[in-house]
Amino acid sequence: MIETQGLAFAYPGGAPELCFADLSVPQGATLLLRGNSGSGKSTWLSLVAGLRAPGRGKLTVAGQDLGALTPAQRDGWRARHLGFLPQRLHLSDALTVRDNLGLVYFAAGLAVDTSAMAGALDSLGIQDLQGRRPQELSGGQAQRVALARAVLLAPRVILADEPTASLDDQSAAAALDLLQAAARRCGATLVIATHDRRVEEALPGALVHKIGLQPSPMLRE
Ligand code: ADP
Ligand code: MG
Repeated sequence: MIETQGLAFAYPGGAPELCFADLSVPQGATLLLRGNSGSGKSTWLSLVAGLRAPGRGKLTVAGQDLGALTPAQRDGWRARHLGFLPQRLHLSDALTVRDNLGLVYFAAGLAVDTSAMAGALDSLGIQDLQGRRPQELSGGQAQRVALARAVLLAPRVILADEPTASLDDQSAAAALDLLQAAARRCGATLVIATHDRRVEEALPGALVHKIGLQPSPMLRE
């Protein structure tokens, strides 16, 4: 479940405030967050992930009021309850695939669960890549590793930022299937931010929200 009320954020340096329409996404639903480049999709995801704190507004994610947490508590909460598939995957080339996944447990303060790791890799068909480093993987393989990392702790919410952007039709369809299957396994709410029309065609059952920035209430008054 994700609920936003009066959410607004301004990047530092005098950029205009981005004001987001209120949204309520039921637990287990899939939402496509649509909108042109620059419309605020990635910013919205970063707020819901607790990576940035909103300037104004209230944000409840999987039952947690994010505004009630300190930045350190937000980091812990994110590590434990939220799976994020960023557009740039942020895998460490210094570590093997296995150790990239191991970092998830480290960040969440949990003991490494090697059988859960094997299961996540297996379900994505990449179990034989465990010993490789991310720079030795194709784009699609690296994305699967990042997805395995995102869903390792069975998060309540999975956020994916433009997951099909650099993929051909077949890989894009496969990536969307894997994302949906992973979300279903966890019972997670899934949000896919995209300006790729193929995504809407591939997921006819998904809720769709076209991100349209609201006029700032400050300007309206
Ligand atoms: P989208 O993901 O839909 O392409 P973004 O959320 O990345 O949109 O961007 C929304 C707006 O915020 C754009 O005008 C963009 O230029 C601006 N923006 C994004 N990231 C930053 C940043 N780190 N610093 C300043 N402005 C930013
Ligand atoms: Mg973006």
